[in-house]
Amino acid sequence: MRKMIELYRGKTKTLYSTDEPDVLVLEFRDDISALDGKRVDQLNRKGFINNKLNYFIMSKLQKAGVQTQIKELYSHDSTLVKNLKMVPLEFVLRNRAAGSLVKRLGIKEGTPLSPPVFDLFFKNDGKHDPMVNSSYCKTFGWVSEHDLSRMREITFQSNDILSTLFSERGLILVDFKLEFGIFQNEVILGDEFSPDSARLWDQKTLNKMDKDLYRQNQVGLIEAYEEVANRLGVNLN
Ligand code: UDP
Repeated sequence: MRKMIELYRGKTKTLYSTDEPDVLVLEFRDDISALDGKRVDQLNRKGFINNKLNYFIMSKLQKAGVQTQIKELYSHDSTLVKNLKMVPLEFVLRNRAAGSLVKRLGIKEGTPLSPPVFDLFFKNDGKHDPMVNSSYCKTFGWVSEHDLSRMREITFQSNDILSTLFSERGLILVDFKLEFGIFQNEVILGDEFSPDSARLWDQKTLNKMDKDLYRQNQVGLIEAYEEVANRLGVNLN
């Protein structure tokens, strides 16, 4: 399959067309961003590590019955994916309090949340990804009620699968964000799952092993992502 033209450049990933209209190349760049893209840096090897991590995790979800966009690894920092029609929403699930939930409600970081808290955000950097709910989706026509409830269901299903996977490797899945699209009338998990879009803590030390290291100006982000990959058994050669 041939990589053709750049279709979309996001904050950390780029999508390219291929010679097949239903297939795209999803490239993970070395960029890292925070503050809705106002702060951007480059970290050597990050694109490669996240590509491998994303492929590994999406494959696990796929095997457990979640339909994902991934087809096959294309290069060290890119993967062939289905060409989805993306829904402009972020589906967040939280097993422990962190990030914006702590800020919004004043709850102590790390407080276990049972059952997990589900949040929905509208993707719009200019408006700082505002929180919305199912009523907004209906009014503004972002996604049908049926597909929205399917996406919510898959978010909870993914949490069950991944919480177990990470916990077996000594990691706590604190929270994560998913994005979905439609392909041939079916709801498909798109975008990525990586320590850029999830919070992962070491079970024993509660050390952060995710993008919060960057958000909080701490060192050792690449080493932490590599450690996550090593614990999962992802081949980084
Ligand atoms: N998240 C993300 N992209 C966003 C916003 C959040 O991937 O645009 C992820 C984030 O990494 C975390 C989860 O979603 O794992 C919940 O994020 P939160 O709402 O706490 O916002 P943040 O603290 O990242 O601003």
